[in-house]
Amino acid sequence: DPEEKILKIRVFCRIRPVSRAEAAQGGAIVVEKIDEYSVTVETPRGPREFQFDKVFSAEASQEDLFHDTSLIQLAIDGYNVCVFAYGQTGSGKTFTMVGDKEQKNPGIIPRAFNAMFDIMRENSSKFSFKVSAYMLELYNDRLQDLFASQAGEAHVHTQSHGQARRVEIKRNRKGVVFAQGAETKEASSAQELYALFQQACANRHISATMNVESSRSHLIVGIVVESRNLTNGSVSTGKLSLVDLAGSERAAKTGAKDHQLKEANSINKSLSALGDVISALSAELPHVPYRNSKLTQYATRVKAITNNAQRNVESKEIAQLKEVIMKLRSGQSVEE
Ligand code: ADP
Ligand code: MG
Repeated sequence: DPEEKILKIRVFCRIRPVSRAEAAQGGAIVVEKIDEYSVTVETPRGPREFQFDKVFSAEASQEDLFHDTSLIQLAIDGYNVCVFAYGQTGSGKTFTMVGDKEQKNPGIIPRAFNAMFDIMRENSSKFSFKVSAYMLELYNDRLQDLFASQAGEAHVHTQSHGQARRVEIKRNRKGVVFAQGAETKEASSAQELYALFQQACANRHISATMNVESSRSHLIVGIVVESRNLTNGSVSTGKLSLVDLAGSERAAKTGAKDHQLKEANSINKSLSALGDVISALSAELPHVPYRNSKLTQYATRVKAITNNAQRNVESKEIAQLKEVIMKLRSGQSVEE
């Protein structure tokens, strides 16, 4: 598809503020923003510089992070868009994607829900929209449906931790990848969508490793937007995927036992497959190894439009991300 050529990946870096516990232990700041596009990281061998499409400092608010809604617009326009957070446990993925527990500082997911319905409202004279969602957890290389509920009941407010339904990734004749067996639910407002999200979160797996809940599984929120042009009746379907990945730390650090080791291995497997996919995309290789893990199979349609003029700059940045991912894979810390 020639159109795919212009669709690429953008990589942002967000620096988390020092926590109270870290400050109390006299922790030093090892990563600093240099300018809008670069950071410097203290390493045993001296400072190293990394480039990104944009860097957010520790002072950046959730609003700062979300102020650009162009990706939401793209999903409404019929593109498949994916936003995911990658990093070690404690680096701020969930804070960035979901927000704090009390939702005083909502993250990208609730903001995306609001922005999506705002944009649809603004366009309601020309289009009619249908929004549906599915929410999945990828845990030990098994996809589980977070909407799965006990026989017959499908209440938004259910807190049940019932057996989640098994989901498979399939590809249809047109080459479109989808999650077969995943329950989808319609939502007619941002509030409804958020209630579905809360329901899904209540169904998540929780492991005590490193005392951080949900850090061992990937959370996948898929929002499908169908828009019908009221003038000519044409229909387009776009998708926004919002993903809070499992922690990228290696097994050894967590002091994992048997079942926890299995967890860590399958997390590393899927993150390593994600690195291979990013490498292939950035090198524009003819074959992108999407099928090596469930995580990347799912991400087959991951894309973002970028300005052609920026391409060369971005290739360099992607090469650097690749380097970071390679290091994480071989067990080194990002700081090195
Ligand atoms: P992860 O999901 O990557 O394991 P979390 O998002 O849970 O990490 O972040 C770890 C802790 O740091 C949490 O207590 C979170 O509230 C806090 N935190 C992370 N990022 C920020 C931020 N930008 N501003 C304030 N607190 C943050
Ligand atoms: Mg988290």
